[in-house]
Amino acid sequence: MKLTEIMQSAYGKALADCTNEEIYCALLHAVNEMAAKKQAAPAKKKLYYISAEFLIGKLLSNNLINLGIYEDVKSQLAAAGKDITAIEELENEPSLGNGGLGRLAACFLDSIATLGLNGDGVGLNYHFGLFRQVFEKNAQTAKPDPWITECSWLTRTDVTYPVKYRGIEVTARMYDISVTGYGSTTNKLHLFDVESVDESIVKEGIDFDKEDIAKNLTLFLYPDDSDDAGRLLRIYQQYFMVSCAAQLILDEAVAKGCKLHDLRDYAVIQINDTHPTMVIPELIRLLMERGMTMAEAIEAVDGCCAYTNHTILAEALEKWPMAYLEKAVPQLVPIIEVLDNRIRRKYDDKSLYIIDKDERVHMAHLDIHYCYSVNGVASLHTDILKENELNNFYEIYPEKFNNKTNGITFRRWLLHSNPELTELITSLIGDGFKKDAEELEKLAKYAKDPEVLRRLLAVKDGKKADLKAFLQRTQNIVINENSIFDIQIKRLHEYKRQQLNALYLIHKYLEIKSGKKPSTPITAIFGAKAAPAYIIAQDIIHLILCLQELIANDPEVSPYLNVVMVENYNVTNAEKLIPACDISEQISLASKEASGTGNMKFMLNGAVTLGTEDGANVEIHELVGDDNIYIFGDLSDTVVKRYADASYCAKDYYKKNKAIKAAVDFITGEKLLALGDEERLTRLSKELIGKDWFMTFPDFDDYVKTREKAYADYENRMEWAEKMLMNIAMAGYFSSDRTIAEYNSDIWKL
Ligand SMILES: *Cc1c(COP(=O)(O)O)cnc(C)c1O
Repeated sequence: MKLTEIMQSAYGKALADCTNEEIYCALLHAVNEMAAKKQAAPAKKKLYYISAEFLIGKLLSNNLINLGIYEDVKSQLAAAGKDITAIEELENEPSLGNGGLGRLAACFLDSIATLGLNGDGVGLNYHFGLFRQVFEKNAQTAKPDPWITECSWLTRTDVTYPVKYRGIEVTARMYDISVTGYGSTTNKLHLFDVESVDESIVKEGIDFDKEDIAKNLTLFLYPDDSDDAGRLLRIYQQYFMVSCAAQLILDEAVAKGCKLHDLRDYAVIQINDTHPTMVIPELIRLLMERGMTMAEAIEAVDGCCAYTNHTILAEALEKWPMAYLEKAVPQLVPIIEVLDNRIRRKYDDKSLYIIDKDERVHMAHLDIHYCYSVNGVASLHTDILKENELNNFYEIYPEKFNNKTNGITFRRWLLHSNPELTELITSLIGDGFKKDAEELEKLAKYAKDPEVLRRLLAVKDGKKADLKAFLQRTQNIVINENSIFDIQIKRLHEYKRQQLNALYLIHKYLEIKSGKKPSTPITAIFGAKAAPAYIIAQDIIHLILCLQELIANDPEVSPYLNVVMVENYNVTNAEKLIPACDISEQISLASKEASGTGNMKFMLNGAVTLGTEDGANVEIHELVGDDNIYIFGDLSDTVVKRYADASYCAKDYYKKNKAIKAAVDFITGEKLLALGDEERLTRLSKELIGKDWFMTFPDFDDYVKTREKAYADYENRMEWAEKMLMNIAMAGYFSSDRTIAEYNSDIWKL
């Protein structure tokens, strides 16, 4: 790529005279052209990865890396006095996802293309994404997060489809984003948009008319579903996504010679969580429109769909009232009834039914009965599905259940986010790990090499300084780069237990106040969005922001402890935070975090995990061994039992444990009440004392003890560096290339 020529022909000026905006736009077009040339010839069988979320992050650098021209472009820019990072910052991050599930879908697309597999993503083109988080008066407020600009990675296609609802028909148009494989072929992410979308209906914050379907379908991801209109809108959106997907799948299959009854030879559909479940009845409906009987259509769809389960949280397993489906998509109702009747005729166990006695459709049940594969996302999670949550299904379909431990793409989470570490690793073991991540294990032989360990620490110090500069520049926050960076960044949810971390910080604050000072100062960093209708989650954010203010203004404490909550946590922030982290907080209640992928990103960047035996932490623990991880808390079996016999009483712990009582009382003590909102703080305190549904108190003492041990160990820099190195060396297993290779060999068979 010759930038001088590109800029000359695009703008008729020298590279040095172009603005960063012009360079960004020209690069985007050049990258898109290059990517288009790498499209693979269409193969007979194709994967469609359908997902409500694709948290893809910024694309410019990622694409330059995957096309193998990042270094070249960077130096051409530098030669003209231009800084590639300044150009990168012009790009808006598409906020097309909420958290790990969406980020997983993005990592998977990268690996599918990298492995040269024939597979595209299918999702929705939300104009305002999830929402942009802004802190005002120590509380989260939600604003639209527009990301589509004139110069966009989206390509408008000629593909349009009608989508019918009761009483209204809308037109969908397909937009494409190229997915470049690393040194490989290009695939597509297809994002459907409603032609009649109208951004102007968004009023205060993220409020809009939820009933104006033709205008609102693709405005936001996960619109507030605390009322009927919001819940209905989710059904409208989901149906919009899967009807477009199903029409695309059938058109592409037919174009390749498919006779429809042999659909499974042409298409495999991965259903990412339950949001795309309606693709099953919709495909059946479309096949009937094309002349099949219902029995034939059901038969044709058999063997096409595979389902990934991401959660065991009951409230997250979608159950849609039949009445809603009747109201929005009545055409699916008779099909779902037939699918349910077939199950009722076969089994008299009501817990297996698709439609329950309250006339609600259990989307996961529909998936499990009519998909040929059901996978969990980490080994512990899959075991829990088989033995507990979905045991009744496992008994009848043992052959369907399988595990696919999640992974992350090392292109983004190492090569792009941490070039300095990438260079150090390359200088030690060559660059084979970039394609074969397990080669990282070769690093283990340097575990006792002081020279290597010193270089590793120097890389970490550099990334900590970078983070400091980034936070100062973007959020006007100043942190101490010589402190321990202890980071918890993830969606705000009680099961992830940011509140446990906050209780520790109060405990630490009280200790420092009483004269017990840490040897090395600590910076506790949070980043988290809370769902706008999730009140307690907002209260936890409020608590953290109040603590941040309290400590920042307390000269007795702030030299030793600081709390920082990063605004609007997203992929771009994560790319800066993770490489700078010393201690990775993965403290979910055991059994609740299906896998986690943040934990993998941190490990890969030489952070040491402080966590419970939950999700993929279990596998990280097995890989790195006891010496290179800090594990605390009750085990999953204990937790599952405690829920089953309802034996947990938070108040007992609160009364008996002085440290817990002191920390909880502090939430409603005069210091925080002076800064915060009494209603929020009181509600949170009551929730903890009266319920503590995610059992922070039983784990509290062990958490404090283990966190202190980690801080003490940090003091021995060489021993700490050895832990860092061992984490990096063992991270290869968590490459999404490995995960995708497993999906392909066990499920997709492309
Ligand atoms: C990786 C990632 C997540 C998932 O984090 P967990 O700790 O696994 O929940 C969420 N959001 C963003 C922006 C991410 O990059």
